[in-house]
Amino acid sequence: MNDIAPAVIIIEDESQIRRFVRAALEDEGCRVHEAGTASEGLEKAGRIGPDLVILDLGLPDRDGVDVIRDLRSWSNVPVIILSARAEEDEKIAALDAGADDYLTKPFGVGELLARTRALLRRKPRSEGLSPNVAFGNVKIDFSRRTIDRDGEQVHLTPIEYRLLTTLVGNTGRVLTHRQLLKEVWGPESIQSNHYLRIYVAHLRRKLEMDPAQPRHILTETGVGYRFQA
Ligand code: CA
Repeated sequence: MNDIAPAVIIIEDESQIRRFVRAALEDEGCRVHEAGTASEGLEKAGRIGPDLVILDLGLPDRDGVDVIRDLRSWSNVPVIILSARAEEDEKIAALDAGADDYLTKPFGVGELLARTRALLRRKPRSEGLSPNVAFGNVKIDFSRRTIDRDGEQVHLTPIEYRLLTTLVGNTGRVLTHRQLLKEVWGPESIQSNHYLRIYVAHLRRKLEMDPAQPRHILTETGVGYRFQA
């Protein structure tokens, strides 16, 4: 593989599967890190900057599809799903959220390793993205889901958080009303522009120095919004 041993994080609550996958990956020359929950996995991903994430969808603290979305707002690390969910809908949701590959349990270790090698070959180590973003007097740690303003923790609702990660994950790019509504509220909400106005106002109030003259969460009149650091 690479000159440097690739780092892999396994996010899976069943310790037997973790151990099994770990042993197989270590035989392949990978450095392996384990996490038993979504929050531990995201925290490690932020700290280690892995070359690959292997993710179970059924985790005790959060759904794996949410974990992928969350991860994708600050990382382009390849993700392989390892799940007992075999329905096509589940696969589509995971792949649409940003997973690169999907393996159904029970799986063959040879196949897992072949898919691991394929992704490690294809994808360069993630660059230009970071779990830590700072702007104005605000610091965000996406891997821990914490936001601090002048040293004080800022509380965001799940919708506000999702809107913020979507905007920040697309820094510099204009996101249309439709794109934001679909991403944050789901495809059934694309007509509801007023939601978006309300939540953008909430975010500005919590994060902008002067919410009336925003410098980071910018309006693109008639089109949508754009984040700049
Ligand atoms: Ca599980």
